[in-house]
Amino acid sequence: MNELRSIEKVMAPPAPHWVGNAFRVHNFFPGNLDMKRMSPFFLLDYGAKIEFPPSNIPRGVGVHPHRGFETVTIAYHGKVAHHDSAGHSGVIGEGDVQWMTAASGILHKEYHEEEWSKKGGLAQMAQIWVNLPAKYKMSEPKYQPLKHSDFNRFVFPDKTAEVEVIAGNFKDTKGIASTFTPIEMYNAYLKKGASVLFSFPKEYNTGFLIIEGTVMVNDKTVPADHFVLFANDGTDIQLSSGENAVVLVLSGEPINEPIVSYGPFVMNTKQEILQAYEDLDKGKFGFLE
Ligand code: MN
Repeated sequence: MNELRSIEKVMAPPAPHWVGNAFRVHNFFPGNLDMKRMSPFFLLDYGAKIEFPPSNIPRGVGVHPHRGFETVTIAYHGKVAHHDSAGHSGVIGEGDVQWMTAASGILHKEYHEEEWSKKGGLAQMAQIWVNLPAKYKMSEPKYQPLKHSDFNRFVFPDKTAEVEVIAGNFKDTKGIASTFTPIEMYNAYLKKGASVLFSFPKEYNTGFLIIEGTVMVNDKTVPADHFVLFANDGTDIQLSSGENAVVLVLSGEPINEPIVSYGPFVMNTKQEILQAYEDLDKGKFGFLE
């Protein structure tokens, strides 16, 4: 039976910090929630709108490792260039999503794209760390560059709303990202008068990040840059809007395993964290200049 899911809390954007000199981010979790509360999503860093002056030297974050999870980077405004030690590189353009599976380990670096950096401009981004269950933590690294134009979209008959499906399935419209565990990830684009009903299994951990506009979530008014955490007490969520709005929808089946996280590694045990540092020292994450 379907019933309304209640709002557990609405979180204002936490004080930001800088990742390198390119990404000013508000960390909604795990910093401000129990680290399993949004499992399989382990981390949400949100870069609210910021204007960068032109720079001939692209701002960025230098070479660093990851192991045990996936990074999903969404560029709402601005352009990010990326290189990794598995030989992948590319540019995440406006509206694009990069789904990178670090799994057994990669080194990568993330920079403002060179031409964009020279002009400067508005940046707005989100990076989500999607945890992997133990059986996939040491699988091969993988890289899915997902272009804005390639997403499948469900357009409501009255044209007031459009749901872009990144992963999962909304009204038989399928996401193009492949995932290791069941995940629903959408960008919902709303216009004045839009009303959209989402339904996810009760046990799926679910949250909305309001990217643009002020929206109504169930009966609550939520402004831009806020994160809505839902209780696991129902299935359905009503999202409506009186203006143009964009909402990032996250819902997924929890991974019921212990988490030990340190820096850029998310593993199951402390021993595996120590192993990650040892493997990094031995060059097992490959090489990247
Ligand atoms: Mn990274």
